[in-house]
Amino acid sequence: MAPPSSNQPADAAEAAAAGAISKVLVVIAMQTEALPLVTKFQLVEAPAEESIFPKGAPWTRFHGDYKGLHIDLVWPGKDPLLGVDSVGTVSAALVTYASIQLLKPDLIINAGTAGGFKARGAGIGDVYLASDVAFHDRRIPIPVFDSYGIGARKTFATPNIVKGLNLKVGKLSTGDSLDMSPHDESAILTNDATVKDMEGAAVAYVAEMFSTPAIFVKAVTDIVDGEKPTAEEFLQNLISVTMALDKAVTEVVDFISGKCICDL
Ligand code: SAH
Repeated sequence: MAPPSSNQPADAAEAAAAGAISKVLVVIAMQTEALPLVTKFQLVEAPAEESIFPKGAPWTRFHGDYKGLHIDLVWPGKDPLLGVDSVGTVSAALVTYASIQLLKPDLIINAGTAGGFKARGAGIGDVYLASDVAFHDRRIPIPVFDSYGIGARKTFATPNIVKGLNLKVGKLSTGDSLDMSPHDESAILTNDATVKDMEGAAVAYVAEMFSTPAIFVKAVTDIVDGEKPTAEEFLQNLISVTMALDKAVTEVVDFISGKCICDL
């Protein structure tokens, strides 16, 4: 099992020496969201038998060099029993934890789809950079534990990305359900969120624990406060919105290439 740093390219190493970002970790929950980026950045899949991850984990890593950056894209893989994408906070936190330990990224990009609130200005295909993240389904009504459950935190501030790219900015609320219970709805409102996903706040929790800057790029597949049932609208828009997501992530990666983390 070769140490991951051994396949760091000379140009990424040079970039690092000059203070520029050299290693980017992209965390993506669904295969449909991940594969176009794998193609775009010409990443190769690390063979399962040479996996850096512990035996038994279905996590998949794609890696390669792109514009002076070494990119690792990790996807929690398919549920070993059910064969569906391992979406949600548990898988996202685990794969983020292992990837930070093993790959030591300079920056994490959690990219994915999300539900959007039209009352807050979101439309299908809009891409958001999350300014804040919080959970909406961790109810612990005991003083201080309540705040721990909500787990609200600011994301790594990237004023120049916001200025330079045409992305919307809004708060992201995370929970382990695709649909929205009445309680979730009021918690999301209290979280002041414009977009809703199933991984972001979990990735942020782990990233903060290990002092790794993390940003959240979320493309709206469904309107939560609209007429259509969420699951139906999500599936209908997944492919086209994934293209918007790819475009935005590529723009972000192009923007950070050659830059210091302090210039984002
Ligand atoms: N039926 C889908 C299930 C995917 S779950 C399938 O074909 O596999 C939805 C994924 O998209 C999660 O990773 C989540 O982060 C994101 N997502 C999109 N819309 C969402 C919404 N309205 N609420 C929560 N998560 C959403």
